[in-house]
Amino acid sequence: MTIRKKLVAGNWKMYKTLHEADAFAQELVEYRDMLSPSSVDALICAPFTALCGLGEKLKQVHVKLGAQHMHEAEQGAWTGEISAAMLQDLGCEYVILGHSERRQFFAESDEAVAKKTCVALDASMVPIVCVGESLSEREAGATQTVVSRQLGIVLEMLQLQKAKGALDGAFVIAYEPVWAIGSGKSSSAQDAQDVATLIRSLVTATLGQRAGEQVRIVYGGSVKPDNIQTYVQQPDIDGALIGGASLQVASFVALVEQV
Ligand code: PGA
Repeated sequence: MTIRKKLVAGNWKMYKTLHEADAFAQELVEYRDMLSPSSVDALICAPFTALCGLGEKLKQVHVKLGAQHMHEAEQGAWTGEISAAMLQDLGCEYVILGHSERRQFFAESDEAVAKKTCVALDASMVPIVCVGESLSEREAGATQTVVSRQLGIVLEMLQLQKAKGALDGAFVIAYEPVWAIGSGKSSSAQDAQDVATLIRSLVTATLGQRAGEQVRIVYGGSVKPDNIQTYVQQPDIDGALIGGASLQVASFVALVEQV
């Protein structure tokens, strides 16, 4: 049986100045022993402005560094954007791609998310590809159709482009029902497990058995220290992507401890 390392990934969104990010890292030192790396990858995806220097500080407390977005081009006239190489320069090991807020407010398409996923893997960064249905899609019973469409394009492109690490499942898929994000309403663990099973079967069908076994699938949407366990106990859920509850040190540490 494949043992997949659990992932507790904080998504800070547009919160924390450089000073606040530094203070967070500093406070984590007290909890260093609780964040030891044996069975869990603890990760903070910080805003671009806080990335510089944060990776070194987080490394001392066994926490990895990630970004929340990137552009797919290597370089060029893309005002305001940032490339995979730039993120790597700053020590990012992970990058969140296709978060529903990027899809909804910045018109990020399934195709763009697919391209970025290939680029991140080729740059040896771990992409966290977000998928999930809106409330109206859920009410229309379209959850599986939406997730299959969003992911299908990514998986086809990974296969076609023979992206590095794709066949080894060296990436993460985050199932985040849009209606559960920041709303305090979380999906039931069983519903999340059902979607995770679908996701794993789609990865297996496109990229093969090994990729299906290795890919880490995390749940996101109003995850807190008191409900994270119910998700990670599910056989196909390998961790969580957490917004609000990752902003306070005590709650971030509690999330890692519960996994
Ligand atoms: P939330 O956000 O934990 O605040 O619901 C999750 C996310 O947007 O990744």
